[in-house]
Amino acid sequence: MTANKHVFKAEVNKILDLMIHSLYSHKEIFLRELISNASDAIDKARYEALTDQSLAEGSEEYKIQLVADKEAGTLTVRDNGIGMTRDEAALALGTIAHSGTKEFMKLLESREVKDNPELIGQFGVGFYSAFMVADKVAVITRKAGTAADHAVLWESDADGTYTLEDAEKTTKGTDVVLTLKEDAKEFLEEWELRKIVKQYSDFIEYPVVMEVTRSKPDPEDKEKTVSETKEETLNSRKAIWLKDKAEITSEEYNEFYKHVSHDFTDPARVIHYRAEGTTEFSALLYLPSKRPFDIFYQDYKIGPTLYVRRVQIMDHCEAMLPTYLRFVKGVVESSDLPLNVSREILQDNRTVTVIKKSLTKKVLDALNEMKRDDAEAYGQFYAEFGRILKEGIHHDYERRETIADLLLFESTKIEPGKKITLAEYVERMQPEQKEIYYITGSDRASAESSPYLEVFKEKGIEVLIMTDDFDDIIISGLGVYKEKEFQSAIKGDLDLGDEKKEEKKKEYGDLLELMKEELKDLVSEVRISGRLKDSAVCLVAGEHDLDPKMAKMFQAMGQEMPKGQRVLEVNPDHELIARMKQLFAADRNSSQLKDYVGLLYDQALLLEGDKPRDPVAFGRVLSKLMADGVKAG
Ligand code: ADP
Repeated sequence: MTANKHVFKAEVNKILDLMIHSLYSHKEIFLRELISNASDAIDKARYEALTDQSLAEGSEEYKIQLVADKEAGTLTVRDNGIGMTRDEAALALGTIAHSGTKEFMKLLESREVKDNPELIGQFGVGFYSAFMVADKVAVITRKAGTAADHAVLWESDADGTYTLEDAEKTTKGTDVVLTLKEDAKEFLEEWELRKIVKQYSDFIEYPVVMEVTRSKPDPEDKEKTVSETKEETLNSRKAIWLKDKAEITSEEYNEFYKHVSHDFTDPARVIHYRAEGTTEFSALLYLPSKRPFDIFYQDYKIGPTLYVRRVQIMDHCEAMLPTYLRFVKGVVESSDLPLNVSREILQDNRTVTVIKKSLTKKVLDALNEMKRDDAEAYGQFYAEFGRILKEGIHHDYERRETIADLLLFESTKIEPGKKITLAEYVERMQPEQKEIYYITGSDRASAESSPYLEVFKEKGIEVLIMTDDFDDIIISGLGVYKEKEFQSAIKGDLDLGDEKKEEKKKEYGDLLELMKEELKDLVSEVRISGRLKDSAVCLVAGEHDLDPKMAKMFQAMGQEMPKGQRVLEVNPDHELIARMKQLFAADRNSSQLKDYVGLLYDQALLLEGDKPRDPVAFGRVLSKLMADGVKAG
């Protein structure tokens, strides 16, 4: 096959454009990204050679080589790792492996990324960062185990296209050759490369080497010097997670975090410990400070990188962490696992179960400490990841109380933007208050202005405001907190101690009967309300029914929802209801009365943010009644 021109996918062009035109600071990170890719490729080669010795292609030492050629103006990052086939190269270096391409593009164009281009790091686009410093990038690669003439040359100068050509390469692995831009020639200097490797890639497990030429006195003739070229290793290669905590600076921790997470921002918290006893392992985990954009995607990779006796076994071991802690990044190394573990084996391996339990506890403890010691930092963390953590209430029954302690909610008694814990709520409950009240809604403003909170406002009772889609499910999963039950402000019959309720029930019984008859296909019951003060009516879901917001969500997803299950609540203290009662007493068959009932139902729908059943008919009846009012007035 000869040279073959290909067009980059749109998202690659977008990334390249941002890389080249927006990222000005920290250009040197391209080296970290390329060394990191080279190290990943060696990890893979080493892992696969465990089962297929032929892939090792002899016993050459694994290493990453930097070759600076000042004459040609090129810097090469060379590895003897797994390499790529032609198809793999086309896929890996021409597209971006993400499922939600559309959302991804939207994100790329967003203000947030434009203003903080370093955010692109988290998209896993390390390779393309080479174009920050190079006009042209060539990749010569050969997959381990294939013949020397099966190599491929990939080339691009970031003009929207790349070429693929057959090539020859005697050693397995990949050479990434950068033709440096005029203003990036410093990356040919030994001291500069040395500094960058030390700063960003010191912990890389494999030697990062470079040929260094020094001049020394000529042993033959003391007056002269001779030059000597030696290969030097630039990194200390210490696995940071195996080091003693006291030996590690916070910069080193942060740098390693960036390496494992592809995130450019510093983490919110570091959890580093060593477990000893029947199961021994080391863990270095991080709580990130920013939510990765793809964390809600199906193919989001969960779990720490797993090492067994210094060999990387897999880059994401999902069996080690519950999904509700999927934001946690890091490394776990255990010598109690066999080197050839597969994902299947890990699923029900006893050692893994023990490690998972320990990691889960440590992460929850760390969150608890953060909440206790630094409420502001915890609030920021929660804004990013609270939604995910909350899933634990549903999925981790055993720890639901521990997780419940970590939840934060808005409430009617604190200023917007601030949040409280359930413990704080319970402490502030009124002496006679028995339940924890909450309201679900799409946002704080609409929840607060809803008629459902009228009586709470009047009685000065605090109500938690929950705005996440599945909050209602979470709360029913939790059931009780500190022996207090949860009560939704929009579900069930509320009883906040209105002594006259029984009396009113009798007084309005007949009118309610008539209303129920009129609305029999629409509601299951019409009753006196314990929650209204200013509004005349509202619709309420049954105690055990699905939250209306959730019901709507399911409907939008095409699920059939049962109709006519809800209750219409009526406020007997409202003037309109009193008038209707009079009208009823005068003429129980009044057509006006029937119009009112229909209108009230539609009004209740409106209050919920819904549309009246038939907006045209609604308008007509309303206008007629208004005209009557004007006449009467
Ligand atoms: P990421 O490393 O996050 O996947 P990159 O853009 O850095 O993203 O790399 C894309 C892909 O290209 C990698 O996943 C890998 O499959 C391939 N790749 C990059 N560099 C190398 C290399 N040195 N050896 C083998 N494959 C590589």
